[in-house]
Amino acid sequence: METARSCEPASPAGKEFSAEEIRRDFPILGDIIYLDNAATSFSPEPVVEALVEFEHRYRANVGRGIHRLTQIATQRYWHAHEKVARFIGGEAGVTIFTKNTTEAINMVAQGLSWKPGDRVVTTVLEHHSNLLPWRALGKQGVSLDVIGIDADYSLDLAALEETLERGGVRLVAVTHASNVLGVTTPVEEIAGMCQKHGALLLVDAAQSLPHMPVDVSRLGCDFLCFSGHKVFGPTGTGVLWMREAILEPSVLGGGMVESVTAEEFVPAEGYQRYEAGTPNVGGGIALGVAVDYLSTIGMERIHQYEERLTARLIEGLSRIEGVRVYASRRAGSRIGVVSFTIDGLHPQEVAHLLDEEADILVRSGHHCCQPLMEHLGLPNGTVRASLAAYTTEQEIDLLLAAVSEISRGR
Ligand code: PLP
Repeated sequence: METARSCEPASPAGKEFSAEEIRRDFPILGDIIYLDNAATSFSPEPVVEALVEFEHRYRANVGRGIHRLTQIATQRYWHAHEKVARFIGGEAGVTIFTKNTTEAINMVAQGLSWKPGDRVVTTVLEHHSNLLPWRALGKQGVSLDVIGIDADYSLDLAALEETLERGGVRLVAVTHASNVLGVTTPVEEIAGMCQKHGALLLVDAAQSLPHMPVDVSRLGCDFLCFSGHKVFGPTGTGVLWMREAILEPSVLGGGMVESVTAEEFVPAEGYQRYEAGTPNVGGGIALGVAVDYLSTIGMERIHQYEERLTARLIEGLSRIEGVRVYASRRAGSRIGVVSFTIDGLHPQEVAHLLDEEADILVRSGHHCCQPLMEHLGLPNGTVRASLAAYTTEQEIDLLLAAVSEISRGR
């Protein structure tokens, strides 16, 4: 069967990086300036075509039956897992497709066997999705410690070390990059601390994966969770990677068993054990195309390109009177996510004005990080601009001009 057009993007490694060329693969960009990529990114044409091809030519269930369509779908769905595993350096572990990061984190919280007195450690930087599943374990007698941040938004590693030294920590759950401040966390160092104290490490890579190279074999984590829809994949796609299959499957039923008798069942091996029921087959296959697309551009090139734009954005915003910036000032420890406020204006109002008057789409509010907002003393939240490989320098300058204008009109 012929496949949809190759996933070769307009700006492959080896050619000069060109956001303008990449944009040609994203017709949705049209007349808008889209700076809400931390919420969800757009999908390039090869990803959309893979979805359409699945629907038009080989839509079938996977791992069931032997007819020609199910064979193609099963093989491609399986292959997509391999592509994603390769993208994160995780071929040796288990790569499971989920709906999103939230589901992936919940699967870990529900799939480990906890005992009263176990402790989980997380941080004040976390998205609600990396907080509430751990808090819910309180019912099983599991306690939760939340590590704070310093004035430059870096994690208080001394507090983490102290907490680990007190003993009983089963798992540390930390974000790789904040979806509010853009600051990255030193996961390799944290992994070393976890190993020393016998704790598992879960990394929420929802924000790091779209912006920088992520390699689980270097990070040293036990679990990595991310959202496919933030890495140019379809909505409804996400990933849980784990070093070893130590979780109990939390959803049971068809597709995840090898055999069933009147009394018991033997679960399947590999990712199938954790993907009960009919999965998002077309979405999973298209996610494989999305990571191929990103690999062909090169994550290091995307990271370097976005760092240049991020520095420009932070410097530009900092120069505007009445604007307060909440972002990491350390190049090398950040991604293209920048929060700000304008004195005297509600963040929702700013986002509305940017949309109405400048066709600039940004996020406003607490970004599912209310404890962090409380810590920062920002009950109304912030305005957040978040970049992608298709963001241009001109778009950053248009945002700066529009923010200037809004601030002048206060
Ligand atoms: N973790 C972080 C750091 C996020 O930024 C997000 C979404 O913005 C999530 C988790 C949850 O992702 P999803 O809504 O795809 O489950």
